[in-house]
Amino acid sequence: MDDKDIDCFLLDLDGTVYFGDRLIDGVKEGIQRMRKTKRVIFLTNNSSATRDFYVNKLSKMGFEVTKDDVYTSANATADWIKANRPNARLYVIASPEVKAEFEAAGLNVNPCFPDTVVLTFDKTLDYAKLVKGCELIKNGAFYIATHPDMTCPIDGGDLPDIGSFMRLIEGTTGKMPDLICGKPYGIIADCISKMTGIPLDRTAMIGDRLSTDMRFAIDNGLKAVLTLTGETDLNDYEKSGYRVDKIIASVAEWDK
Ligand SMILES: [Mg+2]
Repeated sequence: MDDKDIDCFLLDLDGTVYFGDRLIDGVKEGIQRMRKTKRVIFLTNNSSATRDFYVNKLSKMGFEVTKDDVYTSANATADWIKANRPNARLYVIASPEVKAEFEAAGLNVNPCFPDTVVLTFDKTLDYAKLVKGCELIKNGAFYIATHPDMTCPIDGGDLPDIGSFMRLIEGTTGKMPDLICGKPYGIIADCISKMTGIPLDRTAMIGDRLSTDMRFAIDNGLKAVLTLTGETDLNDYEKSGYRVDKIIASVAEWDK
Protein backbone atom coordinates (compact mmCIF):
# COMPACT_ATOMS: atom_id res chain seq x y z
CA MET A 1 0.00 0.00 0.00
CA ASP A 2 1.30 3.42 -0.95
CA ASP A 3 0.32 6.07 1.62
CA LYS A 4 0.05 8.56 -1.30
CA ASP A 5 -3.10 6.74 -2.42
CA ILE A 6 -4.80 7.43 0.91
CA ASP A 7 -6.59 10.71 1.74
CA CYS A 8 -8.27 9.64 4.95
CA PHE A 9 -7.16 7.42 7.81
CA LEU A 10 -9.72 5.97 10.21
CA LEU A 11 -8.17 5.23 13.57
CA ASP A 12 -9.62 2.71 15.95
CA LEU A 13 -9.30 3.83 19.59
CA ASP A 14 -9.12 0.94 22.13
CA GLY A 15 -5.90 -0.97 21.50
CA THR A 16 -4.80 1.37 18.69
CA VAL A 17 -4.60 4.83 20.32
CA TYR A 18 -5.03 3.94 23.99
CA PHE A 19 -5.93 1.32 26.56
CA GLY A 20 -8.56 2.82 28.83
CA ASP A 21 -6.93 6.02 30.04
CA ARG A 22 -3.40 5.09 29.02
CA LEU A 23 -2.26 6.61 25.75
CA ILE A 24 0.02 4.23 23.82
CA ASP A 25 3.59 5.57 23.72
CA GLY A 26 4.43 7.74 20.72
CA VAL A 27 0.99 7.38 19.12
CA LYS A 28 0.07 11.02 19.69
CA GLU A 29 3.15 12.25 17.85
CA GLY A 30 2.55 9.74 15.03
CA ILE A 31 -1.01 11.02 14.59
CA GLN A 32 0.17 14.64 14.69
CA ARG A 33 2.51 13.87 11.77
CA MET A 34 -0.29 12.02 9.95
CA ARG A 35 -2.70 14.93 10.32
CA LYS A 36 -0.32 17.28 8.50
CA THR A 37 -1.23 15.66 5.19
CA LYS A 38 -4.24 13.40 5.80
CA ARG A 39 -7.77 13.61 7.09
CA VAL A 40 -7.87 11.58 10.31
CA ILE A 41 -11.04 10.34 11.97
CA PHE A 42 -11.09 8.58 15.31
CA LEU A 43 -13.53 5.76 14.75
CA THR A 44 -14.76 3.57 17.53
CA ASN A 45 -17.31 0.82 17.81
CA ASN A 46 -17.49 1.59 21.52
CA SER A 47 -21.00 2.99 21.92
CA SER A 48 -20.82 3.23 25.71
CA ALA A 49 -20.00 6.94 25.41
CA THR A 50 -20.92 9.95 23.27
CA ARG A 51 -18.97 11.77 20.61
CA ASP A 52 -18.55 14.65 23.11
CA PHE A 53 -17.04 12.24 25.63
CA TYR A 54 -14.43 11.05 23.10
CA VAL A 55 -13.65 14.64 22.03
CA ASN A 56 -13.05 15.44 25.69
CA LYS A 57 -11.03 12.34 26.40
CA LEU A 58 -8.79 12.84 23.35
CA SER A 59 -8.42 16.57 24.14
CA LYS A 60 -7.26 15.71 27.64
CA MET A 61 -4.71 13.35 26.10
CA GLY A 62 -3.38 16.33 24.11
CA PHE A 63 -5.12 15.91 20.73
CA GLU A 64 -6.69 18.93 19.03
CA VAL A 65 -10.04 17.48 18.05
CA THR A 66 -13.62 18.56 17.42
CA LYS A 67 -16.76 16.52 16.82
CA ASP A 68 -15.88 16.34 13.11
CA ASP A 69 -12.83 14.23 13.98
CA VAL A 70 -14.67 11.57 15.99
CA TYR A 71 -17.35 9.07 14.97
CA THR A 72 -18.89 6.17 16.90
CA SER A 73 -21.05 3.19 15.99
CA ALA A 74 -23.90 4.93 17.87
CA ASN A 75 -23.50 7.95 15.56
CA ALA A 76 -23.67 5.64 12.53
CA THR A 77 -26.78 3.99 13.99
CA ALA A 78 -28.48 7.35 14.54
CA ASP A 79 -27.52 8.53 11.03
CA TRP A 80 -28.83 5.29 9.49
CA ILE A 81 -32.15 5.53 11.37
CA LYS A 82 -32.54 9.18 10.37
CA ALA A 83 -31.99 8.35 6.70
CA ASN A 84 -33.92 5.08 6.52
CA ARG A 85 -36.54 4.92 9.27
CA PRO A 86 -36.97 8.55 10.35
CA ASN A 87 -40.32 7.86 12.02
CA ALA A 88 -39.08 4.90 14.05
CA ARG A 89 -40.19 4.91 17.69
CA LEU A 90 -37.08 3.91 19.57
CA TYR A 91 -36.49 2.02 22.77
CA VAL A 92 -32.80 2.76 23.30
CA ILE A 93 -30.80 0.55 25.65
CA ALA A 94 -28.00 2.96 26.47
CA SER A 95 -26.45 5.12 29.15
CA PRO A 96 -28.40 8.36 29.80
CA GLU A 97 -25.77 10.34 27.85
CA VAL A 98 -25.87 8.11 24.78
CA LYS A 99 -29.66 8.04 24.90
CA ALA A 100 -29.64 11.85 24.94
CA GLU A 101 -27.32 11.79 21.92
CA PHE A 102 -29.94 9.79 19.96
CA GLU A 103 -32.55 12.32 21.05
CA ALA A 104 -30.33 15.25 20.05
CA ALA A 105 -29.99 13.65 16.61
CA GLY A 106 -33.72 14.33 16.20
CA LEU A 107 -34.92 10.76 16.74
CA ASN A 108 -38.05 9.69 18.58
CA VAL A 109 -36.67 8.23 21.80
CA ASN A 110 -38.90 6.80 24.53
CA PRO A 111 -42.29 6.97 22.82
CA CYS A 112 -45.36 5.21 24.29
CA PHE A 113 -45.28 2.34 21.81
CA PRO A 114 -41.75 1.63 20.62
CA ASP A 115 -41.40 -0.30 17.35
CA THR A 116 -37.60 -0.41 17.28
CA VAL A 117 -35.04 -1.54 19.86
CA VAL A 118 -31.58 0.00 19.71
CA LEU A 119 -28.93 -1.88 21.68
CA THR A 120 -25.70 -0.07 22.59
CA PHE A 121 -22.76 -1.02 24.82
CA ASP A 122 -24.73 0.12 27.85
CA LYS A 123 -22.59 0.12 30.99
CA THR A 124 -25.72 1.11 32.94
CA LEU A 125 -27.63 -1.96 31.69
CA ASP A 126 -30.01 -3.32 34.29
CA TYR A 127 -32.58 -6.08 34.54
CA ALA A 128 -35.60 -3.84 33.84
CA LYS A 129 -34.07 -2.63 30.54
CA LEU A 130 -33.32 -6.21 29.50
CA VAL A 131 -36.85 -7.34 30.29
CA LYS A 132 -38.41 -4.49 28.30
CA GLY A 133 -36.01 -4.88 25.36
CA CYS A 134 -36.58 -8.65 25.19
CA GLU A 135 -40.34 -8.21 25.38
CA LEU A 136 -40.33 -5.73 22.48
CA ILE A 137 -38.00 -7.89 20.38
CA LYS A 138 -40.09 -10.98 21.05
CA ASN A 139 -43.17 -9.07 19.94
CA GLY A 140 -41.60 -8.16 16.62
CA ALA A 141 -39.82 -4.82 17.14
CA PHE A 142 -37.06 -4.06 14.62
CA TYR A 143 -33.82 -4.75 16.46
CA ILE A 144 -30.67 -2.72 15.77
CA ALA A 145 -27.31 -3.11 17.48
CA THR A 146 -24.60 -0.50 17.25
CA HIS A 147 -21.74 -3.01 16.82
CA PRO A 148 -20.92 -6.70 17.34
CA ASP A 149 -17.84 -6.85 19.64
CA MET A 150 -17.95 -9.56 22.32
CA THR A 151 -15.39 -7.85 24.55
CA CYS A 152 -13.92 -4.39 25.09
CA PRO A 153 -10.20 -4.32 25.86
CA ILE A 154 -9.01 -2.34 28.87
CA ASP A 155 -5.59 -2.17 30.46
CA GLY A 156 -4.99 -5.69 31.75
CA GLY A 157 -8.25 -7.33 30.72
CA ASP A 158 -11.51 -7.46 28.83
CA LEU A 159 -14.98 -6.11 29.61
CA PRO A 160 -18.16 -7.85 28.46
CA ASP A 161 -19.28 -5.84 25.42
CA ILE A 162 -22.51 -5.70 23.40
CA GLY A 163 -21.94 -9.04 21.64
CA SER A 164 -22.29 -10.71 25.02
CA PHE A 165 -25.53 -8.79 25.65
CA MET A 166 -26.81 -9.99 22.27
CA ARG A 167 -26.24 -13.61 23.26
CA LEU A 168 -28.20 -13.03 26.43
CA ILE A 169 -31.08 -11.47 24.47
CA GLU A 170 -30.90 -14.32 21.95
CA GLY A 171 -31.21 -16.81 24.79
CA THR A 172 -34.48 -15.16 25.82
CA THR A 173 -36.00 -14.18 22.46
CA GLY A 174 -34.35 -16.52 19.94
CA LYS A 175 -33.44 -13.43 17.92
CA MET A 176 -30.24 -11.76 16.85
CA PRO A 177 -30.25 -8.14 15.60
CA ASP A 178 -31.91 -7.34 12.28
CA LEU A 179 -29.15 -4.83 11.65
CA ILE A 180 -25.70 -4.04 13.04
CA CYS A 181 -24.19 -0.68 12.10
CA GLY A 182 -20.58 -0.62 13.39
CA LYS A 183 -17.40 -2.28 12.14
CA PRO A 184 -17.15 -4.70 10.31
CA TYR A 185 -20.48 -3.84 8.67
CA GLY A 186 -20.91 -1.48 5.75
CA ILE A 187 -23.31 1.05 7.26
CA ILE A 188 -20.62 2.87 9.23
CA ALA A 189 -18.35 2.89 6.14
CA ASP A 190 -21.04 4.56 4.03
CA CYS A 191 -21.78 7.09 6.79
CA ILE A 192 -18.11 8.06 7.01
CA SER A 193 -17.65 8.38 3.28
CA LYS A 194 -20.74 10.61 3.16
CA MET A 195 -19.31 12.69 6.00
CA THR A 196 -15.79 13.10 4.54
CA GLY A 197 -16.64 13.11 0.84
CA ILE A 198 -13.63 10.81 0.40
CA PRO A 199 -14.24 7.55 -1.49
CA LEU A 200 -13.71 4.34 0.48
CA ASP A 201 -10.87 3.17 -1.81
CA ARG A 202 -8.87 6.26 -0.76
CA THR A 203 -9.61 5.59 2.90
CA ALA A 204 -7.60 3.28 5.19
CA MET A 205 -8.66 1.68 8.45
CA ILE A 206 -5.96 1.34 11.09
CA GLY A 207 -6.92 -0.99 13.91
CA ASP A 208 -5.81 -3.83 16.17
CA ARG A 209 -8.68 -6.25 15.74
CA LEU A 210 -8.91 -8.67 12.84
CA SER A 211 -12.58 -9.58 13.20
CA THR A 212 -13.82 -5.98 13.28
CA ASP A 213 -11.23 -3.46 11.99
CA MET A 214 -9.55 -5.58 9.30
CA ARG A 215 -12.73 -7.45 8.30
CA PHE A 216 -14.38 -4.00 7.99
CA ALA A 217 -11.67 -2.69 5.66
CA ILE A 218 -11.51 -5.84 3.53
CA ASP A 219 -15.29 -6.22 3.14
CA ASN A 220 -15.97 -2.57 2.34
CA GLY A 221 -13.15 -1.70 -0.05
CA LEU A 222 -10.96 0.30 2.34
CA LYS A 223 -7.23 -0.29 2.77
CA ALA A 224 -6.53 -2.48 5.81
CA VAL A 225 -3.69 -1.47 8.15
CA LEU A 226 -3.13 -3.74 11.14
CA THR A 227 -1.41 -2.29 14.20
CA LEU A 228 0.23 -4.72 16.59
CA THR A 229 -0.29 -2.56 19.71
CA GLY A 230 -3.58 -4.25 20.67
CA GLU A 231 -5.12 -7.68 20.66
CA THR A 232 -3.45 -9.16 17.56
CA ASP A 233 0.19 -10.25 17.34
CA LEU A 234 2.00 -11.45 14.21
CA ASN A 235 1.43 -15.06 15.15
CA ASP A 236 -2.36 -14.52 15.43
CA TYR A 237 -2.30 -12.71 12.11
CA GLU A 238 -0.43 -15.44 10.28
CA LYS A 239 -2.76 -18.11 11.59
CA SER A 240 -5.90 -16.08 10.87
CA GLY A 241 -6.00 -16.31 7.08
CA TYR A 242 -6.61 -12.53 6.86
CA ARG A 243 -4.48 -10.62 4.36
CA VAL A 244 -4.10 -6.92 5.09
CA ASP A 245 -2.49 -4.15 3.02
CA LYS A 246 0.04 -3.15 5.66
CA ILE A 247 1.19 -4.17 9.14
CA ILE A 248 2.65 -1.61 11.53
CA ALA A 249 4.12 -2.14 14.98
CA SER A 250 2.32 0.99 16.19
CA VAL A 251 0.79 4.22 14.86
CA ALA A 252 3.81 5.78 16.64
CA GLU A 253 5.83 4.59 13.60
CA TRP A 254 4.00 6.85 11.20
CA ASP A 255 6.38 8.68 8.81
CA LYS A 256 9.44 8.38 11.03
MG1 LIG B 1 -9.43 -1.88 19.01
